[in-house]
Amino acid sequence: MEEKMTLREHFQIALRAVRWTFSIDRRYTLCLFACALFSAVAPFAAVYFSARVIDALAAGLIAQAALYAALAVGVTFLLRAAATAADSVKQTTSEVYFGESWKHAEKAMSMAYGSIESRDVALLRERISIETQTGYNRYFLFRSIESLTGNVTKIVSALALSASFFTLPSVPAGWKIALIVGTIVTMIAAVALGALEGRSRERFMKNCVHANLMGRKYGDYISEYASGQDIRLYGMEELVAGGLLAEDMAMDRLNAVFERQRALFGVPVTVLRHAMQFTAYAALILGALAGGVSVGGIAQYVACLMMMLSALESLSVSARRAMENDHYMKRYFSYFDIPNDMYQGTLTVEKRDDNDYNIEFRDVSFKYPGNDAYALRHVNLAFKVGEKLAVVGENGSGKTTFIKLLCRLYDPTEGEIRLNGVDIRKYDYDEYMSLFSVVFQDFKLFSFRLGQVVASNRTFDAARARDCLRKANFGDRLDMLPEGLDSFLYRDCDRSGFELSGGEAQKIALARALYKDAPFILLDEPTAALDPVSEYEVYSNFNAISGDRTAVYISHRLASCRFCDRIAVFDHGAIAQNGSHETLLGDAKGKYRTLWTAQAQYYETRA
Ligand code: ADP
Repeated sequence: MEEKMTLREHFQIALRAVRWTFSIDRRYTLCLFACALFSAVAPFAAVYFSARVIDALAAGLIAQAALYAALAVGVTFLLRAAATAADSVKQTTSEVYFGESWKHAEKAMSMAYGSIESRDVALLRERISIETQTGYNRYFLFRSIESLTGNVTKIVSALALSASFFTLPSVPAGWKIALIVGTIVTMIAAVALGALEGRSRERFMKNCVHANLMGRKYGDYISEYASGQDIRLYGMEELVAGGLLAEDMAMDRLNAVFERQRALFGVPVTVLRHAMQFTAYAALILGALAGGVSVGGIAQYVACLMMMLSALESLSVSARRAMENDHYMKRYFSYFDIPNDMYQGTLTVEKRDDNDYNIEFRDVSFKYPGNDAYALRHVNLAFKVGEKLAVVGENGSGKTTFIKLLCRLYDPTEGEIRLNGVDIRKYDYDEYMSLFSVVFQDFKLFSFRLGQVVASNRTFDAARARDCLRKANFGDRLDMLPEGLDSFLYRDCDRSGFELSGGEAQKIALARALYKDAPFILLDEPTAALDPVSEYEVYSNFNAISGDRTAVYISHRLASCRFCDRIAVFDHGAIAQNGSHETLLGDAKGKYRTLWTAQAQYYETRA
């Protein structure tokens, strides 16, 4: 069971949940309420007017009977028509699902990068997604709104139409008290058995969440075409499909147990309800014999009592379900409440035609969220417009972290980074981001048309996209694509899509960075996946590629950094050396010299 929530908390979450449904789709939510309300009132209108028809007939008032009959049919028809209309508007409003997906997309895109990357956030997102798929959150919330509105309306209507029963002088007081006590006992039984049923359902639903999680895992393995080769080569059909089947069968067994228990828990309340019906009939017949209850009245009171008892039973189940769902909604909202703790500045970044932007790292230290170790320590470095800076160092020395801080995927733990003398946190985030074209080592290309991928936009300037692809050495491959820039990357979305090798993907990522045409270009191992010829071409073209932009270039291949104006050597998160290739090489005890000699020896031995 989830941790306990106070009634106040339940109330707050429920209120927020209703406000939330309104915020994703106002029309859908209104129809949800309206449909439940009209459907609940309709049978009471029918009961009330039918009772009047019977009474009028009994009194021989034919015209009045006809009028009530017309009202019985007309009012019921109108109420049902209103309910059907609300329901059909609701059915056609698919925006409620898009609306929710869009809220997720908005959240994911507006979160601080550090949160997106966090394992806890990823687990929370996975968990609420699977719980939503199982029915919690959105679906149960809608059902609860429907059921609570409907049942409360039924109870109020039943009370309204049966209140006069208690004023009937011909029904002995003892019978009235018996009916009130009976109703209370039935209600208590319904709540107690509802609690038992609820516990059994919660257990079952928890297993559904688990089964859905496993189903998603196995489903991904099976449907992901990239895993098809491993499944075949290692004969993993039994392992994968067998696992899925075992989960399904376990689910079926639990479902059968749950349904049996549900049927069993319903028996006592059904018995009590019918005992109450019998008591009500007896009381009313006694009243009728004493001449104080009409035939129509008997029909009305008994029908109202039965409908009220069934609504009370239903209300106890749905209130419990709603309260159970509150625990899930609480977790659901906790995801949306994850704050974007990055400081959001408002300064506009000066648009400069001369690209005269200066960057300075001032005693910057950084720990990744949740990590105790420093990934960067006391980094001081300044670079000017147009400069080509190479960043070298062993794996794990902090090169990528340096780039990530520069383009504000994280904020420094200590110290500050300045752009033209101002702390970068003070700038408007999006404007600051627009200054950088970056190719990360673990870049991601999405399955859109090649031109769209290069432009990162639905529309693109074809000539510019082609030019960037050629500069990134993808020209020959582009010429071979029958649909050119309109070709789809990968086959996820389009059968005619083309697959990419790691090197080709890296070239497209580079073209995408060039297309953005930002004043800074940051390349993290841009040739790691390239063949030697392409690598050589990227190096030789590097000055042409980066033009007058300020470029930061990470590589552990030192030979490729010689063309840079300056080289910063990272070692265990700190800058060990900083200078031109010749100067650094001149320092016999320096890290650069050590790295250089090691690499030179490697190439010589290989040659
Ligand atoms: P390099 O680019 O020089 O190979 P990185 O900047 O990627 O090095 O890593 C520097 C240090 O930070 C390493 O110790 C690495 O393990 C750690 N690190 C990198 N990324 C993360 C992350 N997302 N979370 C926690 N630690 C990280």
